[in-house]
Amino acid sequence: MTDIISTDAVIVGAGPVGLFAVFELGLNDIKCHLVDILERPGGQCAELYPEKPIYDIPAVPMCTGLELTEKLMEQIKPFNPVFHLGQMAESLTRMPDGKWQLKTDRGIVIEAKIAVIAAGGGSFVPKRPPIKGIDAYEGKSVFYAVRKMEQYRGKNIVIAGGGDSALDWTINLQPIAKHITLIHRRDEFRAAPDSVLKMRTLVAAGKMALKIGNITGLEGVDGQLASLTLQEEGKPACQLPCDNLLAFYGLTMKLGPVAAFGTKLEGELIPVNTATFETNLEGVFAIGDINTYPGKMKLILSGFHEAALMAKRAFALVHPDRRYRFQYTTSSSDLQDKLGVSNAA
Ligand SMILES: Cc1cc2nc3c(=O)[nH]c(=O)nc-3n(C[C@H](O)[C@H](O)[C@H](O)COP(=O)(O)OP(=O)(O)OC[C@H]3O[C@@H](n4cnc5c(N)ncnc54)[C@H](O)[C@@H]3O)c2cc1C
Repeated sequence: MTDIISTDAVIVGAGPVGLFAVFELGLNDIKCHLVDILERPGGQCAELYPEKPIYDIPAVPMCTGLELTEKLMEQIKPFNPVFHLGQMAESLTRMPDGKWQLKTDRGIVIEAKIAVIAAGGGSFVPKRPPIKGIDAYEGKSVFYAVRKMEQYRGKNIVIAGGGDSALDWTINLQPIAKHITLIHRRDEFRAAPDSVLKMRTLVAAGKMALKIGNITGLEGVDGQLASLTLQEEGKPACQLPCDNLLAFYGLTMKLGPVAAFGTKLEGELIPVNTATFETNLEGVFAIGDINTYPGKMKLILSGFHEAALMAKRAFALVHPDRRYRFQYTTSSSDLQDKLGVSNAA
């Protein structure tokens, strides 16, 4: 039987706004668990523009998407949030005792007094390669992420793609696989130069193969691949035997299961009360890019403001027996204790 995790708040989405929500909730004595389909926190900042500069975070003249994520992770450290990464929040249900139960696609069940939907533009899902009939192999011998490396020990693997994921997994799986072939449509790679160099060194040493071309077909039985058809430029198509295809063609954003959480929707967005950022469901909040209200601007700073107001209302729901006190972090020893900075000058 699955153990049920009990906590104060469950946050769907570990983008910048979900991360800052941990801080605001933490100041209000509210403990958080976060769920994100990505393997690392940071949402769009970490996934779509880690090295691009952001110029409109208040009092930070410039930082990259990755730097902002790292600073937020440092800021929320005192509150010990628990991350459940690499998994999709699939359902949200109200329990008879009024708590919210969230289930993930990897079987984790979290019960919380409040739920915060900070799902941004939706969940990141892998782009499917344009190969006819690929769906028959998905989850059996064709994968878009590596969950367990051991699964690939002794296997004949084809990796497709030219970005960081394709190159990282080529290098990491090469020592345990029987054989690895990397296929990319051109002989230029978006991945980090260091990874490209490592891959080329392995190719030169005869430890793996690199093919420049496109996969045009898959052959196998009952979802198990036997070979794939490779079309290299200027050459006749050929069959390449393989046990597994790992395709890394990038990610796209889809609203996904959040659409069925039971909140009202306006298109793909969740309308909220702008005094509390609560949705039409009591105890379910929506902050950041996922919400809508008159005048909404999809900016990180808007999401930070929304997190602060959300946390005030969350306090009333999580601690109904306590009176809310407005305090400054500069002068409140109570808040400074929570931040672990009581002895600071
Ligand atoms: C190229 C680019 C440049 C930008 N530049 C700026 C800028 O300069 N300044 C600025 O203010 N804003 C900028 N933005 C916008 C900014 O990135 C967004 O406003 C911000 O990321 C929103 O944060 P969020 O936490 O609400 O959502 P997101 O960053 O989208 O994070 C949401 C997270 O929720 C996860 N998720 C969603 N559904 C589920 C589910 N069901 N289960 C599990 N996980 C789920 C997603 O995987 C994602 O990690 C830029 C955006 C882009 C694309």
